[in-house]
Amino acid sequence: MEIQYQTEGDIFDIQRFSLNDGPGIRTIVFLKGCPLSCWWCSNPESQRRRPVVMYNEAECLHCRRCESACKQHAVTFTEDGVRHFSDDICIGSGDCAAVCPSQALVMKGSRITVENLINELKKERSMFRRSGGGVTLSGGDPLMQIDFAVELLKACKAQGWNTAIETECCAERENILRAVPYIDHIMVDIKHMDEEKHRIFTGVSNRLILDNIRAVAAFSPITIRVPVIPHVNNTEKEIGDIARFAAALPNVQCVNLLPYHSLGENKYKMLGREYKMNRLSAKSLDNEALEKYRSLVEQAGVPCRIGDES
Ligand code: SF4
Ligand code: SF4
Repeated sequence: MEIQYQTEGDIFDIQRFSLNDGPGIRTIVFLKGCPLSCWWCSNPESQRRRPVVMYNEAECLHCRRCESACKQHAVTFTEDGVRHFSDDICIGSGDCAAVCPSQALVMKGSRITVENLINELKKERSMFRRSGGGVTLSGGDPLMQIDFAVELLKACKAQGWNTAIETECCAERENILRAVPYIDHIMVDIKHMDEEKHRIFTGVSNRLILDNIRAVAAFSPITIRVPVIPHVNNTEKEIGDIARFAAALPNVQCVNLLPYHSLGENKYKMLGREYKMNRLSAKSLDNEALEKYRSLVEQAGVPCRIGDES
């Protein structure tokens, strides 16, 4: 197996000691870029491929150095000192964060080679071996950087590590199938079976996604993850439709229901973006509703987990 160790990719985080994203104890590598923009996304800093700047107002000294440093004029201040940021103009250069004298500006996103990333991941190799764990690629959607993802997965397999991927399966089929031979477990999201609702709340149709899931399930064990979102898909009909789709596939190990939370809301403020879930006045789901959905999935013949349950 030839591995291109100098292939570069863009990542925005590495999280260690995870117990919920595949077997054993895992390190999760978060890749930049996502074809979807779900209203409830708790990692909005992942969606753009380029680096993004996050602004923490509580740390800001209002020195206005960021305004002077930004050649794009993405940062401006009003006469009474209120900072404005235009995300659509920003190119992610990081010039603003470089001159910020406090911790008010943090860049999310950096480029790394497969070789350097593997060297970083090797720090946990004894833990992978003892726990049966390994590396999970997440995002964003790792399939958006297919060359980097494939070389990274190959390099992980060359180390003898278990590999998993969290994906939207919203990519060209041939690209997905390039990665499949190097993945031990695929976790794929289904948000909605209705194409129009899917388009409204994620920005894209679900047709390609569902077709790809059918194709991938023929080759690999998969977990289907379903974010359960108030006013989007939290009815018996909508969860039942997803459960029946899952039950008709081979190799589905379980459906994992992920209850809505609003923990990512502050990130939208830091990115200068709207948190669209506020339009829906969405509240957390109660246990009774979630248990009802669990029963629906199990009645369809598929094991079901809620949240981080093992
Ligand atoms: S990262 Fe964006 S806001 Fe900051 S200097 Fe570059 S273009 Fe301007
Ligand atoms: S450079 Fe940093 S501290 Fe100064 S105004 Fe900009 S964000 Fe605030």
